[in-house]
Amino acid sequence: ARKFFVGGNWKCNGTLDEVKKIVSILNEAEVPPEDVVEVVVSPPFVFLPLVKSLLRSDFSVAAQNCWVRRGGAFTGEISAEMLINSNIPWVIVGHSERRLLLNESNEFVGDKVAYALLQGLKVIACVGETLEQRESGSTMNVVAAQTKAIADRVSHWENVVLAYEPVWAIGTGKVATPAQAQEVHSELRKWLHDNVGPEVAASVRIIYGGSVNGANCEEQAAQPDVDGFLVGGASLKPEFIDIIKSAT
Ligand code: 13P
Repeated sequence: ARKFFVGGNWKCNGTLDEVKKIVSILNEAEVPPEDVVEVVVSPPFVFLPLVKSLLRSDFSVAAQNCWVRRGGAFTGEISAEMLINSNIPWVIVGHSERRLLLNESNEFVGDKVAYALLQGLKVIACVGETLEQRESGSTMNVVAAQTKAIADRVSHWENVVLAYEPVWAIGTGKVATPAQAQEVHSELRKWLHDNVGPEVAASVRIIYGGSVNGANCEEQAAQPDVDGFLVGGASLKPEFIDIIKSAT
């Protein structure tokens, strides 16, 4: 069985006071045990060591990005080695905000996933189509190409969580219907089965992201191929606890 995974992507949000407040809410929450749900929150870099030091030990932390290869003369970047050195176990790679706003290509994202894994990080790798791509019927081609660029470069998938985040659902309040999420997740799993292998397909967690909240999470979580969530806006609010509880 695949352990339910709930990630909170705080994006570029929060003051020091707000961050401390979210952490204290998380620390006081009663949630299902670690063997039932894996919880990972992803604060902006400057808050990452602080959050790690304050956060309860059954929750983990992720960086929101890292550099594609070994560190060096790359002003403004943070390397996978630095994350490992700072005991940050997870990194989010290939979020659509970076793909679209910062022009990260499939190949660049694939290289980054591979390098981060090689350094010992666990990776939340994001894929997802735009509204235009969905409406033109190319959803599966798009997410398959994004996944292929990762699969071409990665041979061990134990430390990968795949996040399906349709761009049109992110921050819009337009959550995918449970059937829409299930359809893409099951097709992605089939793609993994055919192109990577049956064991990887059966074991990789495919989580959904895009306008997940406390009210819609239960129905999504009930879908057989939805193994958790990557939550943006609602991860900054107390309802994130309800989303964690949808694991059971
Ligand atoms: P929202 O939950 O705010 O739609 O964001 C989803 C997301 O992009 C998580 O990575």
